[in-house]
Amino acid sequence: MARFDEFKRANEQYAASFDKGDLPVPPARNVAVVTCMDARLHPEKFLGLDVGDAHVIRNAGGRVSEDAIRSLVISERLLGTDEVVVIHHTGCGMLTFQNEDLIAKIKEDLGVDATGRDFLPFPDLEQSVRDDVETLRGSDLIPDDISVSGAIYDVETGELREVVRG
Ligand SMILES: [Zn+2]
Repeated sequence: MARFDEFKRANEQYAASFDKGDLPVPPARNVAVVTCMDARLHPEKFLGLDVGDAHVIRNAGGRVSEDAIRSLVISERLLGTDEVVVIHHTGCGMLTFQNEDLIAKIKEDLGVDATGRDFLPFPDLEQSVRDDVETLRGSDLIPDDISVSGAIYDVETGELREVVRG
C-alpha cells in the first residue's frame, strides 16, 4: 500500500503534463514484443519505443505461454500487428530453478499442492528463445505472414543480440 501511495503521487505529476490522450488503439509500429517481467528490463527504452508504438507482453521469462498467445492473437487479429519479437535475457531468474523446486516451496510456504503445474523455467537461454519462436511458428493461431524473431538482452551491457531472424 505504501508503494501504491507513491504511485499515486508520481501519477499526479505524470498526468499534469500528459499530452498523448488522442492516440489510436492499434500500435503505430505494428509490432508485439514478448519479454520477461524482470525489473532490470526497460523494453520501451532499449528498443526505442514510444507510447502508442507497440504491444509489450511481459511475464516470467518472456515465455510464449498460452496466455501470451492469447494476447498475440488479439494483437494480430484485432489490432493490426504483423511482427513478433521474443526477447529473453541474461541473468534470468527462470534459469535458476526447476518446476519441482518451486512446487516444493509452494507446498512449504502455502500448504498447496501444485504438482503438475509448469512454471516454464528453462536451463538454456538461447534454446528457450528458439523454443518460443518455434512455438509461435508452429501455432495455427499465428499464421506464416507474421514475422517472428528472437533475441537475448544482456542486462550487464544493455545490448540486444539476435538469435532468430523473422
Ligand atoms: Zn527474466
